[in-house]
Amino acid sequence: MKNVTRYGILGGTFNPIHFGHLMMGECALEQFQLDKILFMPTHFPPHKSHNIIAEDEHRKNMVQLAIEDNPDFSFSNIELEREGKTYTVDTMRILTETNPNIHYFFIIGADSLYHISEWKNPEDLLSMVTMLVASRNGKSIDEITKKIEQVQKQFGGHFELLKIPALDISSTEIRNRVKNNSSVRYYLPEKVRNYMNEFKLYRETC
Ligand code: ATP
Ligand code: MG
Repeated sequence: MKNVTRYGILGGTFNPIHFGHLMMGECALEQFQLDKILFMPTHFPPHKSHNIIAEDEHRKNMVQLAIEDNPDFSFSNIELEREGKTYTVDTMRILTETNPNIHYFFIIGADSLYHISEWKNPEDLLSMVTMLVASRNGKSIDEITKKIEQVQKQFGGHFELLKIPALDISSTEIRNRVKNNSSVRYYLPEKVRNYMNEFKLYRETC
C-alpha cells in the first residue's frame, strides 16, 4: 500500500467520548502505522433513544475537546452535517470516492462486531475498508476470531485484531454514574468532565 495515505475512522455516538475511545485511536495509529484518526460522531440510533442523550452539539464539542491536544486525531462532521438517518456504508462511499488515495481502516469494539448484520449493505461497506476490531467486555481473542470468521463467511471483508489494554469503560456507565452522583474522574478527559458539569449533562433521564 505504498503512496497510500492510511486513515483510521472511529465512529460512535460518543455520548460522551471517554478514554476507551481515545485509547483505541492511539493503539490503531501505532499498530497499523496510520497517518491520522478521524473521530466521527454519528446521529443517535433510534434504538438508543430511550436513554439519556446529549444533543449533537454537545457530543461534538466534547469530542473536539478530547482530541484537541493530539495532532494525529481529527474531527469529522460528515455524519452529523447530513440531515436525517445516516448509514456508515453511504458515508464511507462518499469518503472513498472523494479521496481515492486514502485507505480507510474502520475501528470498532468487539461488541459492534455482533451488530454488523444489522448495518445497511455490510458487503459493500466491508469491500471499502479494513476493519480493525478491539477486544471489549472480556471477550477472548478466540471468541472474537470465531465471530470474525463467521461475519467474513457471510459478508466478506478484511479484518484485523486491534490490541488495546482492556479498559472496562462505557458511555452508558459514565451516564449512569453522573445520574447517581458518582465520580467519573479518570473515566474521561478532565476537559470533557468539566464540560459535562458546566452544561449539567446526563443528570436526569429524558
Ligand atoms: P454506549 O455505552 O452509549 O453504547 P460506548 O462506550 O459503547 O457507548 P460508542 O460511542 O457506542 O461508546 O462506541 C463507539 C465504538 O467504540 C464502538 O465500536 C464500541 O464498540 C467502541 N468502544 C467504546 N468503548 C470501548 C472500550 N472501552 N473498549 C473497546 N471498544 C470500545
Ligand atoms: Mg456502544
